[in-house]
Amino acid sequence: MITIKSEYEIELMKKAGEIVGNTHNYLKPFIEPGITTKELNKLAHDFIIKSGATPSFLNLYGFPASVCISVNEEVVHGIPSNRKLKDGDIVTIDIGACYKGYHGDSAWTYPVGKVKPRIQKLLDDTEKSLFEGLSKVKDGVHLGDVSNAIESYAIKNNLGVVKELVGHGIGNQVHEKPDVPNYGLNGTGPILKAGMTIAVEPMLTLGSPDIYMLEDDWTIVTEDNLPSAHFEHTILVTKDGYTILTKR
Ligand code: MG
Ligand code: MG
Repeated sequence: MITIKSEYEIELMKKAGEIVGNTHNYLKPFIEPGITTKELNKLAHDFIIKSGATPSFLNLYGFPASVCISVNEEVVHGIPSNRKLKDGDIVTIDIGACYKGYHGDSAWTYPVGKVKPRIQKLLDDTEKSLFEGLSKVKDGVHLGDVSNAIESYAIKNNLGVVKELVGHGIGNQVHEKPDVPNYGLNGTGPILKAGMTIAVEPMLTLGSPDIYMLEDDWTIVTEDNLPSAHFEHTILVTKDGYTILTKR
């Protein structure tokens, strides 16, 4: 079942989302060559706690860190480690925060130092694909219209669409119904209603969209080792459109 949130629940989700957005803002200046992903995880963890929330992903299904940090060919669920970021890398930080039982979830891919133009284009286009999808969101539309807008934009820009990983409903659980795929047909799937809250999160690749899991049982990487980008916002569906709950 896809839940419609009450005014009260929406207020809590706004606060959770605000903390997620603020955590991204806080981390951004630290994303420089030489910092380890573990150090970024610690900064994020402490900031979320200081904001009066808890990190949603810590121990979620057994995940061993507070945020997911995925570098270059890593698509999602990278485990923070002693790996140092290098000039020219890209790094995805996926942050979830839980405030009084309600969650916000937002991933963003950042350049580290100076990245190659085609990699910057991957970042720009993946971010744009998120907003192409969001532009379709309003009460009464099929979810497939959102998915199709993301996929069409990706194809037009020669990027791979990861199919095995999808966005999701969100509320007092991080992952709720419905699945929000980044591919699909217009006029298909569940109908969005005002008061639904969903995380829309295209994951696009520079090469093949095929992925596999590393032996750590968490990190998902591209099969061809080419970079992947991931942009995600938690949004509230409204009568005429949407409100971003995780904005900066
Ligand atoms: Mg996320
Ligand atoms: Mg998510």
